[in-house]
Amino acid sequence: MLMIVFATTAPTRTPSTLDNAGLHADAAQGAKLIALTFDDGPKPYVLMGTRTGKGVSSPSLLELLDRQNVKATFFVMGWRLSKNADAKCRQDDGGVCREAAEEEHRRGHEIENHTFGHGDFRLMVKRYGEDWVLNDIDKASTIIQSITGVKPSYLRPPDWTIWPELEKKIEARGYHVMTRSRDVPSAMRDVDSEDYFCAGRSLAKCPKPSDYDYVLRNIAQRERQGVEQHILVFHELPQSVELLSRLIPELKGRGYRFVTLRTYMSLIG
Ligand SMILES: [Zn+2]
Repeated sequence: MLMIVFATTAPTRTPSTLDNAGLHADAAQGAKLIALTFDDGPKPYVLMGTRTGKGVSSPSLLELLDRQNVKATFFVMGWRLSKNADAKCRQDDGGVCREAAEEEHRRGHEIENHTFGHGDFRLMVKRYGEDWVLNDIDKASTIIQSITGVKPSYLRPPDWTIWPELEKKIEARGYHVMTRSRDVPSAMRDVDSEDYFCAGRSLAKCPKPSDYDYVLRNIAQRERQGVEQHILVFHELPQSVELLSRLIPELKGRGYRFVTLRTYMSLIG
């Protein structure tokens, strides 16, 4: 069980310890923080505001983040970054996925590991064995590192399917495994926006009255428990860009500061 203790007095750090919002890191100790994270990309039409082969368009997520001066964290599927994916990405997602990832990196966002193939861990272990899953994670890291120059530090399992034995093995390879489990302190726990229910065929499950209210309700509930640090999980979906264009200013107005996951963890850890 991990314990988090918020310092009442800020520890001494050098003045060069700047976080990505340009503020001194000490000021964030115990402050209201949000790590905005996105799964399942990169999807060029959502990131860049282009149009898919089927004519689906989206406002640009990267432009929104720039306008709001927010740095986010993208949990990408490794296969999308491979050369073999270029044709499929152009047709289905309005551009070359790898180039969209390069753009994420260029604009100062963080890229983390959501595996290479996005296969369900239970199914993949049953079918191919544990080593195959570990290799799939490493494969994603190698291709991400070819863009960022840095090995990813965080792994979010597809659909959060994980169990202690496999988690230990993944952590032994140098990853922090993201989780919704109540076994970790609230601030370290993923907060699911359930935005994926609000797109495609699952509309009936989309939170009522809206996913915007759902996220704010979730945060309010956590605040009542004294938790003012949140890792929010979204997907690269046009609906989520629209939602965030309202949500980011609202949360900023409530005193929240948006940081990448690495910065977030360094500040709460
Ligand atoms: Zn996913």
